[in-house]
Amino acid sequence: MKHRDLEEADPEVYEALKNEIERQESESLEMIASENFVPKQILEAQGSVLTNKYAEGYPGKRYYAGCEYHDKVENLARERACEIFGADHANVQPHSGSTANLAVYGKIVGKDAKILGPVLSHGGHLSHGHSVNMSGDFFDFGTYPINRETERFEKEDVMKAAKEHNPDLIVCGYSAYPREVDFEMFREVADEVDAILMADIAHISGLVAADEHMQPFPHCDIVTTTTHKSIRGARGGMILCKEEYADEVDQAVFPYSQGGPLMHQIAGKAVCFKEALRPEFKDYARQIKDNTKSLAEGLRSEGLELVSGGTDNHLVLVDLREEDTTGKEAESVLEACNIVVNKNTVPYDPESPRVTSGVRIGTPALTTRGMEEEELREIGEMIGRVVKRVEDEELHEEVRGRVSELLDEFPLYSDSEVEL
Ligand SMILES: *Cc1c(COP(=O)(O)O)cnc(C)c1O
Repeated sequence: MKHRDLEEADPEVYEALKNEIERQESESLEMIASENFVPKQILEAQGSVLTNKYAEGYPGKRYYAGCEYHDKVENLARERACEIFGADHANVQPHSGSTANLAVYGKIVGKDAKILGPVLSHGGHLSHGHSVNMSGDFFDFGTYPINRETERFEKEDVMKAAKEHNPDLIVCGYSAYPREVDFEMFREVADEVDAILMADIAHISGLVAADEHMQPFPHCDIVTTTTHKSIRGARGGMILCKEEYADEVDQAVFPYSQGGPLMHQIAGKAVCFKEALRPEFKDYARQIKDNTKSLAEGLRSEGLELVSGGTDNHLVLVDLREEDTTGKEAESVLEACNIVVNKNTVPYDPESPRVTSGVRIGTPALTTRGMEEEELREIGEMIGRVVKRVEDEELHEEVRGRVSELLDEFPLYSDSEVEL
């Protein structure tokens, strides 16, 4: 086998990677609420020789020999995850957040199960029973709505839906919800209808890890998450649970829904969890929340409305129903100003999901770059002005100039040894 530098072996892929690092570093403000930037040590773990091994099974119980170091790495990841989240058991093998959810539905409650999740356009994820997703096709999903007045999930609405649907499992935790998830409230509902309670903390796991959000345990039985959003780790998923579900959860992932684990990704998860246990990570999570509050102030100072009136976490949802623009147009004008956000339905949105009346804006990635309250407030004001004046090319040019200065001032990888 001949080893060559990527640049020489595959110039096309090499060039795409070079361009991507440039894009991330200096082309736009990354404000997609589910995205983040991993540190060099995680890139290193993910790019490691652990990719070469089949490690089907679990530490100490593998199907193939030669897994000594893989056991070591997976155990580190599992132990650290349990420590962070106060879980009895962790399965770090799910390839993604969606597969983690499907594994739980498929094995823990089974194929004819009744499941209750949020109304999809009220902040949920495709894997919470959407008709275009396997979850909606294979399981009998009922939904609970967000409250029209408070624009929050309220006990009376969840309870009413639970009593009507009589679910075996209730899902709480969202992709576009700016408020704290009240796990205790969901437990009360789950107990009332005798359902298993699953929290999907894909978005908020970094905040939970740093105790900047209510803990899902002991209220929830099972917790699924991604490891690449606010917790800032390797791309992938994870399932945490109470002891009584441990064996079933492990079976749910392997052999029920997956084959061999992606051990290089699991190494990246282990490193991510070590980072999340450091005191600096707590500062990071606190800064995310402070930054989001400043972003919200900036947006409101320009006269924009926010769903539920504000934020408790890492994102805001701007309600454009009173504005002369749609989510689709706002997303594309902001992109032209080098500010990357995504259009998003607001609760009871009159527009279609392809157009929408909202944009979702998150701060984990910019917080990773080192930006603080002052910058986020200014960015909020800029977004507000752009959304109010979608046709003002002069303003857009001015915003691009300021974005470029901010990117220079807060380097991402260019002041480290990360090459490519
Ligand atoms: C992102 C997300 C997922 C899915 O994660 P993937 O890794 O993209 O499959 C699941 N649930 C919620 C709430 C999410 O936000």
